[in-house]
Amino acid sequence: MIIFDKYETFNRAKQLLKSGRPEELRYACLELRYCIEAICYEKLKLYEKHVPEEVYSTWQPKKVMETLHEYDPFVMENYELRIWSEKPDGSRDKLILTEGHTNLRFEVLKKHYNKLSFFLHVPTLKQQKNKGAEVQDLKSYLETILPEISAAAANTFDSNLAEVAQSVCRECGQPILRNVESLKNNPVAICKNENCKAEYDVKVTEEGKTLWKLRQLDFACPKCKKKNYFGRHFLKEGQVINCFECSSKYILNRPWYLAARDEDKT
Ligand SMILES: [Zn+2]
Ligand SMILES: [Zn+2]
Repeated sequence: MIIFDKYETFNRAKQLLKSGRPEELRYACLELRYCIEAICYEKLKLYEKHVPEEVYSTWQPKKVMETLHEYDPFVMENYELRIWSEKPDGSRDKLILTEGHTNLRFEVLKKHYNKLSFFLHVPTLKQQKNKGAEVQDLKSYLETILPEISAAAANTFDSNLAEVAQSVCRECGQPILRNVESLKNNPVAICKNENCKAEYDVKVTEEGKTLWKLRQLDFACPKCKKKNYFGRHFLKEGQVINCFECSSKYILNRPWYLAARDEDKT
């Protein structure tokens, strides 16, 4: 949607700031909010395959970026992309493209996104009375934040350079993707299928491979005494668990114990 394009919104804010009329400065705040949102959503689109579906329904840029940061710790880092042509033997030939990408700093997002909305409301009666403390020099404020946003608004390309580990969920068959770098700090992966949410412990080996282990809990069947397992993601009130050996069914209750089902009580 061109009307919400990051570059278009940024330029409109710039023009409104140039005029400097107090009533137009308010519209510049609105355009800058659109611009920040457009930058964040563009980033989200790049990571579409990797983030849970519920993130798509959120409209808060801060939440979007926090989620992306969990997936890719370098999501907010600036970088330079270089592309070389290739010789027939597969080795590097000439450098054909060098382009920098500047990300919106997380601090700018945290500090200014909400602050800009302050100017989109009529000051409360208390604020109107308290002029000395509340009246701000909006023009100079906007002049200071414009350079903070301009480079991110002007980016013409972006790429998701994260190294990704992939597996298939044992429980539901859906692919699961995780960023290798963030797995080193938080070695857990959760299936993003809302009806599954199976949990895996993921170990990154020295060779860079990943070993995925479904988190399981064990119990001894009260009836046949055989040792059983079930996925930790089944640990919820009222969940029915089967014994592999004798097929007895049990309900999970908090504090967690296996209770006989009403229909089995004779
Ligand atoms: Zn699954
Ligand atoms: Zn049993």
